[in-house]
Amino acid sequence: MDSLMEVLKRAVEGRALHDEEIQGLLEVSSPEEREELFRAARARREKFFGQHVFLYGFVYFSTYCRNGCNFCLYRRGNSKSLRYRKSMDEILAAASALKESGVHLIDLTMGEDPFYLSEGAEGYERLAGLVDAVKKETSLPVMVSPGVVEDSLLERLREAGADWYACYQETHTFPLYQELRPGQPYEKRWGAKAFAKNCGMLVEEGVMTGVGESTEDLLRSIHAMESLGADQVRAMTFVPQVGTPMFGASGKNQRELNLIAVMRLLLPDRIIPASLDVEGAEGLKARLEAGANAVTSLIPPQSGLAGVARCHEGIDNGSRTVKGILPILEECGLASATVEEYESWVEKRKRGGGAR
Ligand code: SF4
Repeated sequence: MDSLMEVLKRAVEGRALHDEEIQGLLEVSSPEEREELFRAARARREKFFGQHVFLYGFVYFSTYCRNGCNFCLYRRGNSKSLRYRKSMDEILAAASALKESGVHLIDLTMGEDPFYLSEGAEGYERLAGLVDAVKKETSLPVMVSPGVVEDSLLERLREAGADWYACYQETHTFPLYQELRPGQPYEKRWGAKAFAKNCGMLVEEGVMTGVGESTEDLLRSIHAMESLGADQVRAMTFVPQVGTPMFGASGKNQRELNLIAVMRLLLPDRIIPASLDVEGAEGLKARLEAGANAVTSLIPPQSGLAGVARCHEGIDNGSRTVKGILPILEECGLASATVEEYESWVEKRKRGGGAR
């Protein structure tokens, strides 16, 4: 078998890797070897995206949910969870503040809130109306993350102006999926993304690390994301949440960083986010240096909005803002892209193109 440096050289040249080689990269553990892996990932990012990074504003507008995912703070019935449903005015104010601050996209996220999803056409129109209003208010690309929804609603959201549909399987290994998302059909979740892709939306797929997955499971996820044609691919370390069945478990970020780097090598033209929702601004540099090219979960301070995995951390002290993270981009030799650059990437990708 080729040495690590030979495998990385082939990856940087865009040549195919064998599954055993990909698994080897996912398992690299010495600091020196990991730095070589990350260096290769940065070279690949540079070729496809230059030095520019995309910035995503996050509006978690409803934390109500009808589901019971075992890892999630916002699972139904968790009395320790922060519950709110923001009004249209509050949502528009947050989206405007994010636009002013310099983000390139507004990510409208909710739990599977029955107010929107269980009242038929009326609820669907509430959600579509919200997307339409945010689009008109900001003129920015919009991502919707409403959970698993009917095909007709996805089409309606696209018509209302949603560019992206984000919905994470978290794992592509069926028994592990059932442990994480009990009672939620695997195929339905997967099918929603396939439908969104076919109806002209961009799609984000994601994997959670630190939940007992094996290297083979991660390899399976990479192949699944590739087969879906996911336009944005996310890796995020599990963070234990109070009041949930998985509170006692603990995640480590090593696998997340290796996975970010390996995804960058194998899916070099996709957006790979560095989420502020795992380790806050302190963890941003490591994720960017592993090959990420977008910063997600930027949240306006004093807005009463929460994160997903770190529900309060870094929000009101302003460290999860564009201003708060720009010095970190600079430290990494990176800079914010312009809105025009991001819009152009989105449009090109929708037409079936890859790099800028
Ligand atoms: S992960 Fe999403 S669907 Fe699952 S309980 Fe949390 S908010 Fe609901």
